[in-house]
Amino acid sequence: RSNAEKFEFQAEVSRLMDIIINSLYSNKDIFLRELISNASDALDKIRFLSLTDKEILGEGDNTKLDIEIKLDKEKKILSIRDRGIGMTKEDLIKNLGTIAKSGTSAFVEKMQTSGDLNLIGQFGVGFYSVYLVADYVEVISKSNDDKQYVWESKADGAFAISEDTWNEPLGRGTEIRLHLRDEAGEYLEESKLKDLVKKYSEFINFPIYLWASKEVDVEVPADEDDTSDEEESSESKSSEDEGEDAEKSEEEDAEGKPKTKKVKETTYEWELLNDVKAIWLRNPKEVTDEEYTKFYHSLAKDLSDEKPLAWSHFTAEGDVEFKAVLFVPPKAPQDLYESYYNANKSNLKLYVRRVFISDEFDELLPKYLNFLKGLVDSDTLPLNVSREMLQQHSSLRTIKKKLIRKALDMIRRIAEEDPDETNDKDKKDVEKSNDDDEKRGQYTKFWNEFGKSIKLGIIEDATNRNRLAKLLRFESTKSDGKLTSLDQYISRMRSGQKDIFYLTGTSKEQLEKSPFLERLKKKNYEVIFFTDPVDEYLMQYLMDYEDKKFQNVSKEGLRLGKDSKDKELKESFKELTKWWKGALASDNVDDVKLSNRLDDTPCVVVTSKYGWSANMEKIMQSQTL
Ligand code: ADP
Ligand code: MG
Repeated sequence: RSNAEKFEFQAEVSRLMDIIINSLYSNKDIFLRELISNASDALDKIRFLSLTDKEILGEGDNTKLDIEIKLDKEKKILSIRDRGIGMTKEDLIKNLGTIAKSGTSAFVEKMQTSGDLNLIGQFGVGFYSVYLVADYVEVISKSNDDKQYVWESKADGAFAISEDTWNEPLGRGTEIRLHLRDEAGEYLEESKLKDLVKKYSEFINFPIYLWASKEVDVEVPADEDDTSDEEESSESKSSEDEGEDAEKSEEEDAEGKPKTKKVKETTYEWELLNDVKAIWLRNPKEVTDEEYTKFYHSLAKDLSDEKPLAWSHFTAEGDVEFKAVLFVPPKAPQDLYESYYNANKSNLKLYVRRVFISDEFDELLPKYLNFLKGLVDSDTLPLNVSREMLQQHSSLRTIKKKLIRKALDMIRRIAEEDPDETNDKDKKDVEKSNDDDEKRGQYTKFWNEFGKSIKLGIIEDATNRNRLAKLLRFESTKSDGKLTSLDQYISRMRSGQKDIFYLTGTSKEQLEKSPFLERLKKKNYEVIFFTDPVDEYLMQYLMDYEDKKFQNVSKEGLRLGKDSKDKELKESFKELTKWWKGALASDNVDDVKLSNRLDDTPCVVVTSKYGWSANMEKIMQSQTL
């Protein structure tokens, strides 16, 4: 084309495209989900802008916020159009080729190792999945701020942009035309597309239409060609008006010799493929597990078959009204804790009265709950204000408080429903159900994926510290290689035991050999093992639980049950400890005391009550957190 401007893809983008084109990945279906998701994003954007500027939607067809899919079997073109925000020439250049997003190289790297192409949407490069099925792609786009442009590429390292002077004007929005590869012919089948939309895009909040063929019965003249007579008469009939037509056929029916017959004819019309009734507006009792699971997958852009570990669907009433659905994913994303302190991204989508506002509101959940996925739809928040104003709205605090409460309840329920978590003794009377098997081990799974988040929560969220402490799991001298909880620890405490004992270190094996344990073990006290670097920080915040204080057994001040001989012994060793303290340089030790924690080992170095533990010193030196 004469007016085409050529551009080269940014290097990482080019590599990404090569990977996609040469991919042997069998599930090519994902491209459609990505395109529909982009169309839906673009529609969300224009709808959001229209809240404060009514004019922006324009008029006529431009106000139709929908997604339309069309097939051209002859030319092997599949096209998807939306009346979303559209892209200016600048946008096309930047968004589709020259600016590599942070996810681009991350995705390329990932594809070289584990390689699940299905995750492409999560890395923010979903558009390029079109090259799984097409060898030539055109993107026609019209934004309110620019003329209509065409972006095109054969994925050969370059793309071209031209002002569009030949296609029909779009009004506003984007049309993606995929020139399908020969082996991708199945995407020209209507039934295939219907299935895919059902499967992956069921929860898109805009209507998705397919230009679908429909077989209709039409009455045509009977074409028995034995008598030319009849043919003539039927021809003349077709030119007559309806009234007479009906009359005539009645007449003929009566004679038992119809002169018209019904045949199938193909017509086309827009067929609605999705049900746009939002799942969160429905009564939770009427939503099936399968529907929740599918909804989770669409929110999380995850195509695995894994069920979320838990969900909570509720309506909050009172001063601030909202509906919400929260999910605990089956797995933690790899980078959940890598970017913990810099990334501010919450995984909740915020809607106001059914209108999507943002999925980047970190005011909705505290950081430590960032692993949750879900959605909040509020009727209380104002619609016609900017995001910035909304961010400061006082209702958000109330919403956040309730969301945390509900999230922690949901997590607690995973434990309560897990038969492995409760004592088998307690369970004896309860009949074992299939449900039991499905829930068995779920809390351990949760803990292995997200336990660290609970610990970070204890550190960061003073208000909910006790609730979070209930969710804590660890191993101990009595846990038998399994995980146990503080409540279980307390139930096993010896009579007269005041404190909860714990020890920190780098591994359970190391801690089991610790001289600090000797006496406690012999006396049958249970000691918790904390072996995660974050545990040292955790224990600086977790002072007590259910009126019991935590006592690090490697620190000064260990209180075991009172022993009448203690005083006597202390007296008789007074001279020795005094001499010893003098013998050691005073900047190395604070004090020398008689110990009640040792059995075989003659002496041990302990940390003062307020100082760092030896393990913490090690952590600080290596900066592992
Ligand atoms: P993501 O959707 O995660 O941002 P994609 O690779 O799917 O990543 O899309 C890249 C960008 O291209 C989008 O962020 C958006 O700016 C733009 N884009 C893609 N499709 C459309 C569309 N239908 N309408 C408007 N902009 C679009
Ligand atoms: Mg996308």
